[in-house]
Amino acid sequence: MKNTQYAVIGLGRFGSSLAKELVALGHEVLGVDKNANVADEMSACLTHTLVADTTDEEALRAIGIRNMDCVVVAIGDDIQASILTSILLKDLGVNRVVVKALSALHGKVLQRIGVDRVIYPERDMGVRVANQLVSPNLLDF
Ligand code: ATP
Repeated sequence: MKNTQYAVIGLGRFGSSLAKELVALGHEVLGVDKNANVADEMSACLTHTLVADTTDEEALRAIGIRNMDCVVVAIGDDIQASILTSILLKDLGVNRVVVKALSALHGKVLQRIGVDRVIYPERDMGVRVANQLVSPNLLDF
């Protein structure tokens, strides 16, 4: 069976950790970041890395992003870049687009755009840690 091909856009703390774990799980991962130093640092850990500003439609086309099975948008603080990237990905026909949201409102906009899944890492980790504190024997909530 063909391995799933992932792209992770935005290789900050969350994006880089997610991308490395996908590689560890045996998948092919293309990492994309607009910062050349960040992309360079990750190049040894991922299948491919590219420098691109993903708010640029032509750059996304050139990468061949629509051939990916799943694209994760892990752009952090720049909500505008996150939203623009997400809408371009859906318009280009990417099958599965998963986006990190910083706030409930950001998440709501992403849902309206039609992304396939919105994730809230800080919120979800808070819930997870609280559950582990209350039930220390619960290994993986
Ligand atoms: P995290 O929230 O995961 O800890 P961070 O705070 O370390 O992330 P951010 O500035 O929030 O870093 O963004 C994550 C990454 O997204 C950065 O490495 C940044 O260069 C990249 N990024 C931001 N905008 C774009 C864009 N338009 N195109 C590609 N990459 C981008």
